[in-house]
Amino acid sequence: MANRNPARLAACLLLAGLSLLPQQPAASAPLSEKSLDLGAPAGYELMLLPEDGLYPGEKASFILLPPPDADLNETEFTASRRLDGEPVLLGAATFGGHGIGRSQRATLRWVWNTAGLSAGKFVLYFQLAPEGPAWSQVFTLRRPETQPPAQRDAAWEMLQTDCCILYYMTGTAGHRDLEDMADTADAQAESVSARMGVDFAEPVTVVLLPRTLGHGGFATSEIYVSYLDRNYAGSDFSIVLHHEMVHILDLRLGGELRPSMLVEGLATYLTGGHFKAEPLLPRAAALPELGWYVPLRRLTDNFYFEQHEVGYLQAAALIEYMVERWGYDAFDAFYRDIHPVPEGSQSDALDAALQEHFALTLDDLEVDFMARLAAEEVTAANREDVRLMVMLFDTVRRYQQVGDPNAYFLSAWLLSIEDMQTEDITADYARHPNSLENQALEALLAAAEDALRLGNTARAEELLAAVNVVLAALESGKQPTAAMAADPLAADALAVVQALHAQGYEIQSLVFEAGRAWAHATQPRTSPLPALVMVELVREGDGWAVVSANR
Ligand SMILES: [Zn+2]
Repeated sequence: MANRNPARLAACLLLAGLSLLPQQPAASAPLSEKSLDLGAPAGYELMLLPEDGLYPGEKASFILLPPPDADLNETEFTASRRLDGEPVLLGAATFGGHGIGRSQRATLRWVWNTAGLSAGKFVLYFQLAPEGPAWSQVFTLRRPETQPPAQRDAAWEMLQTDCCILYYMTGTAGHRDLEDMADTADAQAESVSARMGVDFAEPVTVVLLPRTLGHGGFATSEIYVSYLDRNYAGSDFSIVLHHEMVHILDLRLGGELRPSMLVEGLATYLTGGHFKAEPLLPRAAALPELGWYVPLRRLTDNFYFEQHEVGYLQAAALIEYMVERWGYDAFDAFYRDIHPVPEGSQSDALDAALQEHFALTLDDLEVDFMARLAAEEVTAANREDVRLMVMLFDTVRRYQQVGDPNAYFLSAWLLSIEDMQTEDITADYARHPNSLENQALEALLAAAEDALRLGNTARAEELLAAVNVVLAALESGKQPTAAMAADPLAADALAVVQALHAQGYEIQSLVFEAGRAWAHATQPRTSPLPALVMVELVREGDGWAVVSANR
């Protein structure tokens, strides 16, 4: 339940590399290249984007993660190439806090434009200026014909609906399901408007992302939602959309100080759940019993750093309780009338507004709220579901830190649709770490979510335990294949992924049962749009064999 500390987090990131696949053995490189492929100095990690390969014509970005204790206030990170022996600067950046987590890093975004270059190996030179180390590193531009055709031709396109401008990338699941997406967006916008009594001032920009980012979406004045077949963060498109649309209208309705706890609580409450429709008070009532209840003062002042699912559930249940007690209009009048207290925290501001509107302090409210939770009967089903939901998302985040670090919510690679269109960027979101080990772990996470959704908590726990065994092995430095072998269920999942891969399929979902497996899969090399095929496999000796495939 505790938050990982940044030092340990950095250690996990170091294991991640660009994907879980082992790097090319250095021995295969010619001597001169080996001597140029030095890699970042000890304690630093250099990440290349896009992930899962780089192709001619793409714009590459570099992120340098320093050791946790490095003092880099006066330091600049530079990247350059050499043309005819002369250095050509690609870009320079200082170190700064990044993302919600404010992790220290230097980012050179889209600095290496590979347009006009052919496939092959290229040496880039990096330096920490003025006094830091300098090093060179070799990067490979892959042959274009090895790239899946849909990715090679990918472009951002848009569709205007009643409510929204939907952006989607061609050749992705969002493109395939576009009409459903459009209907869903219109229905959600109507529902949010009706619920909040205010219309959207302008069309809502909704960007469908073909990779998992954070918990499945983020919002600025625009909404970015992950939509893909193997969405291991398990987010429901309509619920994420509803949640983010509430944020937009909430912002429009205003308020001088809207504490994060109430902002997220309101979006979750009005959506009727966080990642799925869920009874809020009956589930929040399980929190004290599980020992996970967060005191309101702490939750208010530290919202994004408390256990994520607990925080959202508790905040939404608190609002449900307040609406139950005073009515929505009175709650809304209070919520939009919170003001900063000089040199005070968000909880001080909340406390003052509570006294003003309801003649009680935050501590009084907490006593009453806890009494309301205690009055609720905690069913075993709700308690198990809350416990496993927390385990599920803790596991998702642990996976992201080890296997998909640019998706991890505290340091996610967030790009605006405007920038992506201006710079013609699709690869950063079209691809993600996609080794067979990544695929197997993501399929197991998605299977755990399915089991939880169906109320099969025992199976969900078994699947999550398997993923955690592998993640612990990766964190301790094991190679991906060896790590997968550390758990029989994970080893089976990898064997299924390998059997599918051998026949040109990429796994999207997985169900196991007594020597049989059923997988939804796509064929990235053959279909222009990702058509889902149901593939059945049987265990054969140590491996798995495909027995049938149907659309
Ligand atoms: Zn939110």
